Amino acid sequence: MVLATLAGMLAVYLYNRVALLAHEAVTDSVHVIYGIGGNVAVLRTDSGAVIVDTMTFPIQGRRIRELAESLGGGPTQAVINTHYHVDHTHGNPAWPAGTHIVATERTRAYLERFDRDFWQGPAAGALPNVLFSDRRDLRIGDKTIRSLYLGRGHTGGDLVVLFVEDRVLHTGDLFFNRLYPNIDLEADGSVEEWIGTLDRAKTLDFDRVIPGHGAVTDRAGIEGFQAFLRELWQLAQQAAAEGLPVERAQDVARASMTSDRGFEVVAILGILRLDRDFVVRRAWEEATGAVRPRSAPPRPGP
Ligand SMILES: [Zn+2]
Repeated sequence: MVLATLAGMLAVYLYNRVALLAHEAVTDSVHVIYGIGGNVAVLRTDSGAVIVDTMTFPIQGRRIRELAESLGGGPTQAVINTHYHVDHTHGNPAWPAGTHIVATERTRAYLERFDRDFWQGPAAGALPNVLFSDRRDLRIGDKTIRSLYLGRGHTGGDLVVLFVEDRVLHTGDLFFNRLYPNIDLEADGSVEEWIGTLDRAKTLDFDRVIPGHGAVTDRAGIEGFQAFLRELWQLAQQAAAEGLPVERAQDVARASMTSDRGFEVVAILGILRLDRDFVVRRAWEEATGAVRPRSAPPRPGP
């Protein structure tokens, strides 16, 4: 009886945690929605809403859709998935079949390869269906939405979205703001190439930045994250050159790394813990060539 009551309370708590969404204005036409999963952007156009990413659970998708259509000036005109991870895509089935869902060709391939079970049955209708390799512009109502593939980084298929008139960039998980990032080597991610990918992002015309995770910021936020990637890659290359085992590389990082000061750890239900040891291990695996084979399932997110 007590157990049943506790289980009931836990279920209510979890439901509320999952369903709880916060939002804030970035410009007059752009909002960000925060919740369990990647940050969602909503663009208001005079024809309706454009939405970037859909979080982790179908129930969140339904609430995001409702909220986004009220913030975004009407029915959804397009959804964009920045990359294939569950915490950016599993809300997709809340939109009706036939909705334009934009992603890179690589992201679509990763969804089908690494997350096949989820995208069976009715969910298959919510897979990205507007695919591109380098660049795709949408003109919706009075707004221009530019999706760009700028190179490898967090995965091999991430896009960034520029809301041209509003000068807002959604970077997806190519930028974690003051948080340790996931590095998905199994889906062609690369610490080494990530730095240059963000250099290309910085050439775009924007003022505000919505990161994949963490608070809205600006260009300087991206630069701080790049400084971290540079220090991480240098440390991993040095460890590889000296033939250090990963534990030694982690010791060196503990003693010397400074660019991650103030970074928070991300822990996901015991599945994944994103901390300094994690990022050093991933960079060491890339630098030494000790990456697990591509056929191994990747970590699910974020
Ligand atoms: Zn991710």
